Formats: sequence, C-alpha cells, structure tokens
Amino acid sequence: MKYSDRKPYTDLNDKIEDVLMRVNKPATYMGGELHSVDRDPEKSELNFGFCFPDTYEIGMSYLGLQIIYHVLNEQHGVYCQRLFAPADDMEQIMRAESIPLFTIEKKQPAAEMDVLGFTLQYELSFTNILNMLDLAGIPLLSSERGEEWPVIAAGGNCSFNPEPLADIIDYFMIGDGEDVLAETTAVIKECKAAGVSKRELLERLSAIDGVYVPSFYEPQYDDEGRMTGHKKLFEGAPDKVVKRIVMDLDNVSYPLEPVVPFVDVVHDRSVIELFRGCTRGCRFCQAGIICRPVRERSRSVVVDLAKRQLENTGYDEMSLLSLSTSDYSEIEPLVTELMSACAAREAGLSLPSLRLDSFSFKVLQEIQEYRKTGLTFAPEAGTQRLRNIINKSITDEHINMAAERVIKLGYNNIKLYFMIGLPGETDEDLDGIVEIARRIVSIARENGANMGRFNVTASVSNFVPKAQTPFQWVAQDTPEEFNRKHEYLMERFRKVKCANLQYHGTDTSFLEAVFARGDRRVCKSLVRAFRLGCRFDGWSEHFDYGKWLRAFADTGIVPEFYTQRVRGRDEYLPWDIIDCGVTKKYMLLEYDRAMKEAVTLDCRQGCTGCGIKRFVECPVYEQSENYKTGAAMRNDAAQSAPKDCVQTQEA
Ligand code: SF4
Repeated sequence: MKYSDRKPYTDLNDKIEDVLMRVNKPATYMGGELHSVDRDPEKSELNFGFCFPDTYEIGMSYLGLQIIYHVLNEQHGVYCQRLFAPADDMEQIMRAESIPLFTIEKKQPAAEMDVLGFTLQYELSFTNILNMLDLAGIPLLSSERGEEWPVIAAGGNCSFNPEPLADIIDYFMIGDGEDVLAETTAVIKECKAAGVSKRELLERLSAIDGVYVPSFYEPQYDDEGRMTGHKKLFEGAPDKVVKRIVMDLDNVSYPLEPVVPFVDVVHDRSVIELFRGCTRGCRFCQAGIICRPVRERSRSVVVDLAKRQLENTGYDEMSLLSLSTSDYSEIEPLVTELMSACAAREAGLSLPSLRLDSFSFKVLQEIQEYRKTGLTFAPEAGTQRLRNIINKSITDEHINMAAERVIKLGYNNIKLYFMIGLPGETDEDLDGIVEIARRIVSIARENGANMGRFNVTASVSNFVPKAQTPFQWVAQDTPEEFNRKHEYLMERFRKVKCANLQYHGTDTSFLEAVFARGDRRVCKSLVRAFRLGCRFDGWSEHFDYGKWLRAFADTGIVPEFYTQRVRGRDEYLPWDIIDCGVTKKYMLLEYDRAMKEAVTLDCRQGCTGCGIKRFVECPVYEQSENYKTGAAMRNDAAQSAPKDCVQTQEA
C-alpha cells in the first residue's frame, strides 16, 4: 500500500463509547462541539490530522489550533480533524484494549490520515509527540516509515530549531502557517492523485518556501562534536529555509466560528489576534525575534471579528492576543469600541500585557466593573543594570508608579515575573528582586491597602537560552547554581511580610535547554526517554528526571554540552539552516551590546537594522518618521526608556 492509496474509514465510535464512562473528562474525547467540522472522510481528497501534543484542555486554549483548523477546513477537498494526547487513564485503557490514537471528530484511527501535523509550542511536549505516534501504531523515525504511513509534519515556534526532531518529522513548516499550509496541502493532494512516491512528494514539498525536509540534509560535526554545517543530500533542497510571513492580516482567514468546548479549558473565551511581531527587542525573547515584523490588523476588522465571534460563540469573555497589547497603534479607540461591544453582550474584556500609562489605568478602572482580578508585571530582572543587559526598558520608578496606581484602584494581588540565571547576573540582582517586592508592600501600606488581604508574589523562572535570540550563544546556569539561587531568595523572602516566592523546578529547565539548542543527535535520547516511560514532561507529577539522565547515558549524550557550553562567535549553530528573518549579525551585535550593559531602544523610535527588510517591507520602518536615524536609536542610557513601559497582565 502507498501513502497515497485511499484508506477505508474505520469508525472506532462503538469501541470508544464503551470506554468513555470509565475515564475522567470523557467530553475531551467526544468531539461534536459547537462549530466542530463533521464530514465524510471517505469523500475528502486529503485527510489532515491536526495533532496537539498535550491534553484537550490545553490544546483548545491555543488560538493557533483554531486558526489552522479553520484554514485547513476551508481548503477545497481537505478535511482536518483534531487529535490530542490522551491523559494517563485514557492511555492505559487504549493500550489495554488496543484502541489506536483517534481523531475526536470521526473517531478515525490516526494512521488513516494522509498527513499528521504537530504543533510545536514547547520543548517539554516532545515525548508526547512520540507517544501519540506510538499510540497510533506509527513507527517513530521517518527512516522506518514506509510508503504506507501518513506523512508527518510540524510547525510552530520550536520548529525554529527543528534539529532535535529531525529524525522523526518528514517536513517542517517554518513561520506563519496560513499560506504554507494551503500550498503544502495543494501539493500533497496533487501527489496523492498522481500516486507519486513519498520521496517525490517530499522533493516537491521542499521547493515550497518555508518548508524544511530534514532527511535532505546530513549534519556535519568537527572533532569536538560541534556542528559545522548541513550537507545537502538532495541538490534541489534550499541552502537556507526562510520563514514564511503573512503580511496582510486583514485579509487572512480568521475563525469567526471557533470550536466551543463542552468542558472548561484553560482559556475559555473568545480571542482576537491584534497583531503579530514585537519591536521592543528583549534579548532573551525568542517570540520577539521570530515573529518580526510587526503587522497589525486594522481596528475596524478587529472590532468586526470580535462582535461576530461573540455572537457566534456565546462567550461571556473576550481577550486580545499579541505580544504587547499597548503597542497597537490605535489601542485607545480600539479598547473604547471593544468595551462597548462587550458591554452590549454582557461580556467582559480582558487585556493582557497592557502598558501602565494613564489611558490603561482608565481602562483598568472600567474593567473592574466586570471583574477585579490580580495584576501581573514582568520586570524580569531585579536591578536596572541587569534589565539593561536583557534590554527590558523598565525602571524602578516605573514599577513603583505602576504599583501605586493599581493599589489605589483596589487591587490586592500583584504578581511579578522574574527570570534568574540571566547572563551577567550576580547576587545583587537577586537582592533586587526581594527589594522590589518589599517596596511594593511598603507602597501598599502607605496607600491604605488592606494588609490582611494584600499579597505580592514573585514568580521566578529559570532562564533558558533559546535559539534565534541574541542570547543563543550563552551558557545556562547549572542546576546546582539555580538551586542555590532559589534558596538564597527563599531565605530573604521569608523576612518580607505579605510577599511570597514561587519558583520553577531546575531539572525541567535543564531539559528544556538541551532541546531548545540541541542538534540532531539529541533525538536518540528523546526516543530512549520515551521508551523508558517519559511523557508529559512539563507536568511536575509526570516528570521523571532519573529516566532522562538514564536516557542520555544510554545514548551517549552529554546534556551539559548543550546547556553549559558557551558557543563560539563563528560557530555554525544547528538552527542556522533556518533563516528567521533577523540576521545572525544583528543578534551578535545585540549580544555584544548586552555584555556592555547597553540598551537598544524600541525600533518604533528608529530602525535598528534587524534584517527583516531583506524579505518584506517592514510596516514599522515604513511608518517611522525617524527611520533614517538608524543605529542612532541605540542608546546606552537606561533613563531614555519610555516613561510608560511597565507591562501588566491580568492574572
Ligand atoms: S526592519 Fe527596522 S523597524 Fe523593522 S523590525 Fe527590523 S529593526 Fe524594527
């Protein structure tokens, strides 16, 4: 049988109905939700299984799933169904009763799909990908999958370093998904109809911009084990894969009728994407680099989408999505319009990542009428010096001012996000975290807050250097150093009343760092860890560090090679096969500036030459009156940071 042969539809409904009463949350496997798509798979030209490598509740909170589901089901002859990682109880029953992984729409076995496409949102979900393939009865490695198996695709943020999954995935789609999904599915339909081999299909796919077929390249290494290049095995494959960018968000398809889950999911609300990209230039942030340039949806389109989504779903809450909501050029009139649209339907409006300027406070005041939640700020580092290194333009004055204002509005819970282990960090920076919390408590006391109820939480995560960022060359702190810093902070937080500390496990951050900057060799450790029983590694109740250490030892991988090693400035990096739009030269320049504690201003105030203009017209560049000032906008003085740049988020 060939992948292109039509497979008869096997309906597993009867088998699955039998087991649903024996598992927690049966509704997460049932499908049939409002706006889910019900078609006959036997009549579609291409059956696409969209796989989310985590549970239904997490997957259904992800806007990208709704967009892809919608875009694919709009394509002529394509039927997209959803698949999620089953929870433990369901998996056990499925394995015991030989029920293969199935789509929730038609209860069709995953192996009957023509394509299975995984979204890669976080590295700790990688073992779930293997588990889903295994539950489907599909061989894990692409080299072991013959013509009869579905083609396995992947996209999403983690595909900007695709190498750790290169032995598993047949093709990656890099960048915005809408156009490349339409183009790849069109080619697969053609190839299926023509009955060409899987090899030829992959050759044709590799000719599409933004598609990376890893089996067409062989990684090269030097004697020290450092990668030196990708040797092409198929002459027609591109030298570099440039990410796809959708420029016109107004005319790109958007789910007006998103699937509405029957059960509570993590974010149970209507969501409108405001814009893509960010110009702020935080040096640790991968999304800020890989999502450039900034592209906005126009205000009238956002309002129209919001009204129609609320009407079509019946949600009582609406949220806006972007990397930094306040940076939207027409945020004030937009929020005013949306607030009245939401009020007309008695829905609440949630505004993540607001900048605390006077307008935002006015908005917060009005939003309070709907619901009063806690607020979150993200200073990320405890001192100005370290904030300059990471290019986070917030000063202590901004934090104090923002805290005072929200306390006066009556907010009793303030959450602060920090990272530790950042390049150049010292214990003084840790003291700075404690000091910020202490200061906010004093401000609360001075402003008459109810101190019996007031609370500041410092949530501290461990810095993981990511591929495609100015910090892609740096070493991560060792787990021992992270543990010491946690204890250091804990000891000091105990002495601050009304404040508490939350921190993340060091072992998961270590693992995340291995896969965030891993090369193709770590794939064998991933497979071994899965065979040893690892899955849901992002969930503390499932994570088993001992099994991971064994997997690395069994496969001859020294994980510290990936976490603790400082990469050379001229070193070829495993993800250099991918061009994310921003040049490596720019990232290196930003890295050097970080080491000099120099701030680079938001490029809305003047282009800093990131390189994205090599591929598209950058709307920010075009609109900036100051664009000619170029590198002059790099400014070494922290006090030059805009005065209203504290970010908030409703908790
Ligand atoms: S091209 Fe210039 S203005 Fe556009 S994102 Fe890059 S640095 Fe900013």
